[in-house]
Amino acid sequence: MAGKYIMALDQGTTSSRCIIYDRTGQQISVAQKEFRQIYPKAGWVEHDPMEIWSSQLEVAREAMRRIFASPQDIDAIGITNQRETTIVWDRSTGRPVYNAIVWQCRRTAGFCDELKREEGLAGAWRQKTGLLIDAYFSATKIRWILDHAEGAREKAVKGELLFGTVETWLIWNLTGGKVHVTDYSNASRTMLFNIHTLQWDEEILQRLDIPSSMLPEARPSSGIYGYTSPELFGAPIPIAGAAGDQQAALFGQACFEEGQAKNTYGTGGFMLVNTGNRIVSSDHGLLATIAWGLNGEVRYALEGSVFVSGATIQWLRDELGLIGSAAETEAMARQVPDTAGAYIVPAFTGLGAPYWDPYARGAILGLTRGVNRNHIARAALESMVYQTCDLVQAITEDLGCGINMFKVDGGASANDFLLQFQADMIGQPVYRPVCIETTSLGAAYLAGLATGYWRDQEDILSNWQLDRRFDPQEGQEKRDQLLDGWHRAVRRALQWSEES
Ligand code: ADP
Repeated sequence: MAGKYIMALDQGTTSSRCIIYDRTGQQISVAQKEFRQIYPKAGWVEHDPMEIWSSQLEVAREAMRRIFASPQDIDAIGITNQRETTIVWDRSTGRPVYNAIVWQCRRTAGFCDELKREEGLAGAWRQKTGLLIDAYFSATKIRWILDHAEGAREKAVKGELLFGTVETWLIWNLTGGKVHVTDYSNASRTMLFNIHTLQWDEEILQRLDIPSSMLPEARPSSGIYGYTSPELFGAPIPIAGAAGDQQAALFGQACFEEGQAKNTYGTGGFMLVNTGNRIVSSDHGLLATIAWGLNGEVRYALEGSVFVSGATIQWLRDELGLIGSAAETEAMARQVPDTAGAYIVPAFTGLGAPYWDPYARGAILGLTRGVNRNHIARAALESMVYQTCDLVQAITEDLGCGINMFKVDGGASANDFLLQFQADMIGQPVYRPVCIETTSLGAAYLAGLATGYWRDQEDILSNWQLDRRFDPQEGQEKRDQLLDGWHRAVRRALQWSEES
């Protein structure tokens, strides 16, 4: 008999969460635990893999305990995770040979620069993996661990070590070391995976000196990978779905059709558009990635990210002391009809797509004597919108057609002013669902589809509930004028730190 609920494990960059969902997609129970961020040097970021595992297990048990759920009540477990973060462990002891190297960690940036200088490599790898050569992705992190953890390379060559991104690590631990798998969406962020053939790429592995015996088996995002060890929850539970956080969010938003997109306004911003069975190669520095593997098919997505999105609002609060809470910005922005010509370019850490300028720095432009704190709050929110507009434009040019459905989520999507301005600036409706926890919901859906808890994608689509639709209210002329000002402001912020 089917269990009553689906359990989603949401292993994020700063916390492990567990959310238990019912068939209508309602949250029945939630538990969360933060864990340590380890910064050994400037630009380096690590996590303790044992802490990732123990915190995730703890919140899973806690979420069950809160509703007195038995293991039989849980139909299946779905996992979503911080992507690209790299763990290497000993296959017989289960002990990691080094800390997890987190996606944000820049320690292999120099090596990536070397690779990029090798003739033809960037183009060839991009064609195979959909990615730009960058320290974010797992490949160069694995190599770093093999080069620096004591005895690691010898052990790896003897087949004694295993590699995994975070979902692989969790599945391996949940199954008591029986199952070593990854899903296609996570595999596609390693820079080792050929997204056309769905195979690990021998050439890349050789160039990086990574033995293929370390790699997990790549599987679809929905399907039973294995069962939890009985002692963990009292009885085995099937582990039936996994996807990287952004892809899971696209699925949780029910963006199943080609051309449908979701944009997440969190600390950073992430836009993914479903490109169906097409791998779209970008001329604007966007990434091609696997959205999910389901029902014997693979869906692809085009992805663009904004480094600093909601973090601009945190900056107003924590560094400038201009606001007490993020939510205040909405009322402040509505106090004024516009920004009085002010623009904020929040290029605190450079600019991503479509500019790709690590030397860009933040700027406030167009100040006149009348600009007050409300104008600044408004300019900060508008900067989140303008950056998204740049991604929409890039995606539209790469696809050769527009986005046909624009859904939003993330903490800042609670801000109605922000979403209205977004609709005005892209000239098309913006849809906000009731549930903006789309990441964990997507993982739950992938798992529940595998066990028949949900029948099909139609079933899921009918769970997607609109909270509010924002229709554009500005004309083309106004839009062009404002965007023109934004682009003039961006031009002044580009290459700032290089010039010094
Ligand atoms: P993440 O998961 O990336 O840590 P969240 O999705 O929880 O982030 O979103 C938090 C971000 O959204 C913060 O940067 C915060 O400043 C911003 N934010 C939260 N609420 C609002 C709001 N009402 N208006 C504008 N920004 C907001």
